[in-house]
Amino acid sequence: MCVLCGKKNMTSLNELSLTQMQTGLARGDFSSRELMQSTLDAVAKHDPALHAFLHVASERAMQDAIESDQSPISNSRSLRSLPIAIKDVLSVENLPLTCGSKILEGFIAPFTATSVKKLQDAGMIVIGKTNTDEFAMGSSTENSAYGRTNNPWDLSRVPGGSSGGSAAAVAARLVPAALGTDTGGSVRQPAAFCGVTGLKTTYGRVSRYGLVAFGSSLDTVGVFARSAEDAALVFSAMAGRDPLDATSADVTVPKINFDKTDLRGLRVGVPQEYFIEGMQAEVESAVRAAIEQMKSLGAEIIPIRLPHTEYALPVYYIIAPAEASANLARFDGVRYGPRSEADTLWEVFFKTRGEKFGAEVTRRIMIGTYALSAGYYDAYYGQAQKTRTLITRDFEQAFASVDLIAAATTPSTAFVAGAHENNPLAMYLEDVFTLPANLAGIPGISIPAGFDNNGLPIGLQFLAPRFREDLLLQTAHVYQQVTDWHTRAPKF
Ligand code: GLN
Repeated sequence: MCVLCGKKNMTSLNELSLTQMQTGLARGDFSSRELMQSTLDAVAKHDPALHAFLHVASERAMQDAIESDQSPISNSRSLRSLPIAIKDVLSVENLPLTCGSKILEGFIAPFTATSVKKLQDAGMIVIGKTNTDEFAMGSSTENSAYGRTNNPWDLSRVPGGSSGGSAAAVAARLVPAALGTDTGGSVRQPAAFCGVTGLKTTYGRVSRYGLVAFGSSLDTVGVFARSAEDAALVFSAMAGRDPLDATSADVTVPKINFDKTDLRGLRVGVPQEYFIEGMQAEVESAVRAAIEQMKSLGAEIIPIRLPHTEYALPVYYIIAPAEASANLARFDGVRYGPRSEADTLWEVFFKTRGEKFGAEVTRRIMIGTYALSAGYYDAYYGQAQKTRTLITRDFEQAFASVDLIAAATTPSTAFVAGAHENNPLAMYLEDVFTLPANLAGIPGISIPAGFDNNGLPIGLQFLAPRFREDLLLQTAHVYQQVTDWHTRAPKF
């Protein structure tokens, strides 16, 4: 029965947006328990086709929902009873934490990541852990050791990655929101491929405590939801300084104002470097149409240059593997997860890592170790760090004359599973438009802005200066008031 219109067999509760769920619960239209039942039923029914989840915490989530119904309503629990799924690189106490890897098979997290803890404190209920490329390395979720996730718009295609499980779960209306992480594009790229809103936060905006580190100077926690308004609810609840993460910033989260209905006074930069040869024609035309629409909403459109963009990909693929090679040294078969049998300690390390890490993780560790080695450090890592500074300066210079940057999120729409199987470089190219923001530490958002001829979603990306998530969300909201791309749901 539709809770909004009273008609039978219309919208079931799990299909409501986060904001609608919040309103419905507050009005008493349905209970937390009913909402949770509907969510868990949807997961049970549809996840076998999608494989968005690695673990569903059904009993615990239901228990939490029942308790929530019984406890008094309090203002501090503004997200009371709202379900959320968590990418399986974030720790949630007493739930499995695999990072999509065999090296953490069977590992149970002993504590909860601050980002998740803050959402729980605001009342949200974790319903499960979502699939990811192994240690978040990838752009398709095909690198998960537990099998790939399918794109709900076309099950033969990938949902993007590495947060593909979270993106697919939100797109398929199994959950209204999910957390992901974005080190080089892993929130924005799957958001684009799955037709949902995906916010990458400023580096330092959300605590990384309890996020299994991949590239420590690049990693950010982000959120998937069905609209900018929904994403803002989750973002505002999890952002802020955390004494447990020394790199988290003490910058006040502004109140995000959704009253604006136009973009008057907004200077939007359109970077020439983000319209490249080989880009899918329908993606380019959808993005250009969206920019025209922003203009008709009152924005001033200004062509800009980000001249060092072409170096972002090679720079990222030195820095991220370098940091990963150091971060992943802790997985040695002694401290966490399973251990391969061997006679000596050295052999335990060697065998466990050799047997349990997948091909992509092994490749990154090798590249990173090589780039950091004494003889090559200056030539590769040192040079990459200098070039990273130039990329950051490009953005600083651009933001001196524009408020926001608009471009495509990805050069093409979701590809068929297996398409890049034997070509890691082609997979790396998926991130050309998303990596620069991570190198510069700035926030970005991807929102649906059309469909290609195969009916696959197209993503529009906005980038803003550090700590200006409010501007990204407000602008996305104005666009979502005059378009309905974000309201379309896949039929699968
Ligand atoms: N696809 C990029 C990589 O494989 C980015 C991944 C991410 O953002 N976690 O490194």
